[in-house]
Amino acid sequence: MPASLRHAFRARAHPARSVPCPHEHCRARAHQSCIVRVNGRVLDKPHASRISLWAQTVACCIECVVEPGIPCHHNGTPLPAVHDRRIQEAMVTLA
Ligand SMILES: [Zn+2]
Ligand SMILES: [Zn+2]
Repeated sequence: MPASLRHAFRARAHPARSVPCPHEHCRARAHQSCIVRVNGRVLDKPHASRISLWAQTVACCIECVVEPGIPCHHNGTPLPAVHDRRIQEAMVTLA
């Protein structure tokens, strides 16, 4: 299989596609690939903010100890993105 095809397959298979993309210039709906609106380019992998939202939706965070659906925080202050370990946790859970 050519590398380009394999990449497309990986992008389709990314579990973060199960949530809509919150990226302001993308806004892909659930199960649609992320795109760059200005030129219509389809991205190989979802936007970081989408992966972050997905991890927040499906996984607990072992870093700041929150349940699925609750944003990550640092000493009680909500963080704009989840901890890397939460994304790893989500990947492992759904692999
Ligand atoms: Zn996106
Ligand atoms: Zn966290």
